[in-house]
Amino acid sequence: MKRVIHWLLDILFPKYCLGCNKENSYLCKDCFAAIPILQNAHCFLCGLRSPTGHVCKKCKNKFHPALSGLLIASNWNNLLLRQIIYKYKYSFIKELSQPLSQIIIKFLLNLNFILLNSQFIIIPVPLHKRRLQWRGFNQAELLAQEISGFLGIPINNQILERARYTLPQAEIKSKQERYQNIKNVFKVNEKINSTSLNNPLNIKSKIIILIDDICTTTSTLEECAKTLKPLGPKEIWALAIARG
Ligand SMILES: [Zn+2]
Ligand SMILES: [Zn+2]
Repeated sequence: MKRVIHWLLDILFPKYCLGCNKENSYLCKDCFAAIPILQNAHCFLCGLRSPTGHVCKKCKNKFHPALSGLLIASNWNNLLLRQIIYKYKYSFIKELSQPLSQIIIKFLLNLNFILLNSQFIIIPVPLHKRRLQWRGFNQAELLAQEISGFLGIPINNQILERARYTLPQAEIKSKQERYQNIKNVFKVNEKINSTSLNNPLNIKSKIIILIDDICTTTSTLEECAKTLKPLGPKEIWALAIARG
């Protein structure tokens, strides 16, 4: 039945590649292959090249970030990528989570960051209920689920919650206001946290990979990391498709 519905929908609303207009999918194989995958990682605080993606020593000593590093899979200057992300987030084309997560997976495999280490755990940046209702899905969580499934890394999408509603960071111009907007926005879901140490979703001593779609300012991801740090993870990393 589901297949019939999909077949009917495809006939009524044919899909066209966002890159070249070819029919059948929102992103054809050739256009997908043309999206750049970044090869180099940088200290997210000063921009200095960092082969492992770690925050550089100087910034670590100066700012004491809760994040070990930020990994960015592709380039925001790529117009096709930008269009895909807009369609995903604002035209609510949920299935674009598939190519977008593949971009992140390609990047991770290139970087050899993920060695199917049992210590990894994925946590998507949560949305407030109000925004979740508006969009119908959490764009970061769908990406996280795809990546988790593909790489076999457990995902904990309940431990981190939004404590209050905020304006989207992208809509705020001043750096200072952005910082105030996101400060203390997240909280730990204590019900989830109280699970036993044997639970694969427990984050103590794990290497957390926080996942977001675009990183506008690093303050959202840093706030998430600050909130999770008291639970004793070994490291907290952030990962996004692009830095906008
Ligand atoms: Zn195409
Ligand atoms: Zn630095």
